[in-house]
Amino acid sequence: MHIHENFSLRNYNTFGIDVAAKQFALFSTVDELRELLNHPRFTIHHSPLTTHHLPLILGGGSNILFTKDIDGIVLKNELKGIQLVKEDEHFYYVKAGAGENWHSFVMHCIDNNYAGIENLSLIPGNVGASPMQNIGAYGVEIKEVFQQLEALHIYEHSLETFTLNDCEFGYRESVFKKKYKDQFIILNVTYRLRKNPVFNTTYGAIEQELEKMQVKELSIQAISQAVINIRSSKLPDPAVIGNAGSFFKNPEITNATFAELKDRFPAIVGYPVDHNKTKLAAGWLIEQCGWKGYRKGDAGCHAKQALVLVNYGNATGKEIYDLSEKILASVNEKFGVELEREVNVMPAIN
Ligand SMILES: Cc1cc2nc3c(=O)[nH]c(=O)nc-3n(C[C@H](O)[C@H](O)[C@H](O)COP(=O)(O)OP(=O)(O)OC[C@H]3O[C@@H](n4cnc5c(N)ncnc54)[C@H](O)[C@@H]3O)c2cc1C
Repeated sequence: MHIHENFSLRNYNTFGIDVAAKQFALFSTVDELRELLNHPRFTIHHSPLTTHHLPLILGGGSNILFTKDIDGIVLKNELKGIQLVKEDEHFYYVKAGAGENWHSFVMHCIDNNYAGIENLSLIPGNVGASPMQNIGAYGVEIKEVFQQLEALHIYEHSLETFTLNDCEFGYRESVFKKKYKDQFIILNVTYRLRKNPVFNTTYGAIEQELEKMQVKELSIQAISQAVINIRSSKLPDPAVIGNAGSFFKNPEITNATFAELKDRFPAIVGYPVDHNKTKLAAGWLIEQCGWKGYRKGDAGCHAKQALVLVNYGNATGKEIYDLSEKILASVNEKFGVELEREVNVMPAIN
């Protein structure tokens, strides 16, 4: 277990932002993690009230915008292992280490005919972050297959189990982004996957893609491949151009507000959430404000996906953040709608 000093995080975040961590270490066992948390060189304050020098837990770095150097420890989660822990008449219960790559885990499940996460193929990042924001794509969210997770309390070092109800999942939300923010390190996640698949092809262009692929018989393999094809053609590859996927959430507004906006902007894009709420397509709002394809220096708004902010090479996190502020302000001014960032800004800027 090596502790690096002044360690560049450029290759550890998909935005490719060049900041340094004062200290950096990988852990691949829970014992190593405990040892690091107890290490005298790290000034971790054992109280949730003092967040100074909290360890920053890093997965694949695909949902983070670093705004400056990290004046503390960054701990990269490398806990591995995939295990079928239980099965019953209808389900397989599969436990994965938080440091497993998410897409490799999806592929493992597909190879073994464990159904339920095929629509979540090709989402970057690791298993441990999947419950953080209840990852979702193509009509499926992690909460639909979530069984439980184990996490270590950062201050108490106690091991705790969280069930579905404990996690309070919402749209790109969980208890770990709210009341338990910066308090737990997720160690492993157990998913409840179906023996008999329930196919979900209604969202996005999955059906058209399956047709194009000339799929005769629906399978989780075919759906996964369709999702991979669509995502590869639509989303910028972080290996080529720095980004963290959707920078903002799609805002939810009341149906009454939606009706007013629809009067003023007939082409506005919204999807019903429930009897009272409508979800707006944030990308459409941003595009209408003229940001799509905008670039200043190396910070920009992607030419095909207005929801995705990009680093063309040497943008700083602050430049990307400032651009996001301008986008927020202009969307608010034009539509009276407050966008919320989906990406975790670290350290936070208030
Ligand atoms: C091209 C692209 C497309 C994307 N598409 C989607 C999409 O379709 N749907 C979607 O939901 N997301 C999407 N994302 C966002 C991202 O992939 C997910 O949010 C992913 O789950 C982040 O995983 P990560 O391991 O990279 O997390 P990181 O970026 O490393 O961390 C994210 C947050 O979780 C915390 N964290 C990470 N691991 C742990 C742990 N073990 N314990 C405690 N805290 C932890 C970090 O401190 C940070 O606050 C996309 C990103 C990119 C770049």
